[in-house]
Amino acid sequence: MSRSSSVAEILLDLIAIPSVSSASNRAVIDYARQWLTPNEWVIQTFPYIDPNGIEKINLVASPSRLLQHQDDVPSVELALVCHTDTVPYPDNWPEAVHPKVINGRVYGRGACDVKGFLACILAVVEDPEISEQSLAVVLTADEEIGCVGAKRLLGEKRLNARNAVVGEPTQLQPVVAGKGYALGEVVVRGKAVHSAFPQAGRSAILDAATLIDSIRKIGLRAATERHERFDPPFTTLNIGMISGGTAKNIVPAECRFLVEWRPVPGQSERWIADLIREELARAQEEDPGLQATFEPIRIDPGFETGRQSKLVGELERLSRNAAVAVAFGTEAPYLKKLGAETVVFGPGDMMTAHSVEENVPVEELERCVEILKRLAYSLAKNDK
Ligand SMILES: [Zn+2]
Repeated sequence: MSRSSSVAEILLDLIAIPSVSSASNRAVIDYARQWLTPNEWVIQTFPYIDPNGIEKINLVASPSRLLQHQDDVPSVELALVCHTDTVPYPDNWPEAVHPKVINGRVYGRGACDVKGFLACILAVVEDPEISEQSLAVVLTADEEIGCVGAKRLLGEKRLNARNAVVGEPTQLQPVVAGKGYALGEVVVRGKAVHSAFPQAGRSAILDAATLIDSIRKIGLRAATERHERFDPPFTTLNIGMISGGTAKNIVPAECRFLVEWRPVPGQSERWIADLIREELARAQEEDPGLQATFEPIRIDPGFETGRQSKLVGELERLSRNAAVAVAFGTEAPYLKKLGAETVVFGPGDMMTAHSVEENVPVEELERCVEILKRLAYSLAKNDK
């Protein structure tokens, strides 16, 4: 690292540090530290051990003049929030961590999701004058496996921020609304017998088929509650995995399937879970022999920031892009819960993320750095 690196060079460094969610993110945090320390940013780290015994680190940094004591909770106008982990990459893609620049684009794992935005943050804090602004940098662990780091950090209230920009690839469009993400499992139990005598047992797969059809109807009902900001403009449902049975000639004793739904903001993210439970209860009332349970695994809310928010207006003006809604999940709802006006924003296109084509245009990286700097200045200025 040199102190005059361009944002693209910072990104090349970051991609070369593997940080899939299953590994520790310490090396990325240590790298970021080198950019924050020279301009007297105070770095607070919040390590934890994940369920596999791996160390993960959340980081909050702010200019030292904002804090009286080293362990004060920073209270800032603008937080730049970025996760440090990436999804895994296949063995036959060596360039994943040996990034290349081809035709003005940086290719590699995390290029757009979301080391590109992290590189922009580090290029912003390299500017000594930026530390005069009311700004914090928040780096989180374990986003790709359920926003684990953000939930932890924000649950412990390690930061007060009036506005937050959460980095994700949006092609520099301010994203002001996002769907939530929820997942649950249905387990159906039957009775195994020889398939020549099915009446002596009970097929868990056939019972699951009945329940799946009811859940399909819940999906149709959800589609009538419209939220026109989104495409598609309603809560979607998916049954993405199913398993059951042990042999072709045994009536199956068990069948399980996963139900995923992406709730639009403003609707209770538990609504679908409640409908599924009601369906199970109704089916069991009609047929007392049917045995099924439903357990939510994860229920994350969506978010929506009003168009009248100053942050939205400033980002629309600086990026020259109108605010939009997206269907993918982000850490934004947790910032929103803290009371921050929240926008998701960053260089690159989510359509390339999580693939072997993952890339980010260098020109978007450079524009993003300028936009973030101007945003920090204008939010501070407007507030005086
Ligand atoms: Zn991401």
